[in-house]
Amino acid sequence: MEPKRNTRCPLCGADNSCVPARTGEFGTPCWCFTATIDPDALARVPDAMRGEACLCPVCAGVAPVRRG
Ligand SMILES: [Zn+2]
Repeated sequence: MEPKRNTRCPLCGADNSCVPARTGEFGTPCWCFTATIDPDALARVPDAMRGEACLCPVCAGVAPVRRG
């Protein structure tokens, strides 16, 4: 099994900083392995993109959100 090569966040379209999506292999550690993803953010992922692409750290709720 190989990671999906989707480097864009399905919610905001920003770079999702997912290392496996970039390298094409799961052998490289990534922030998404250990992050606790915001359930509200997951709920907002379109069905078509579910399991296809990582959220970006901001949408996942693990990075400070810039508002304003
Ligand atoms: Zn995002």
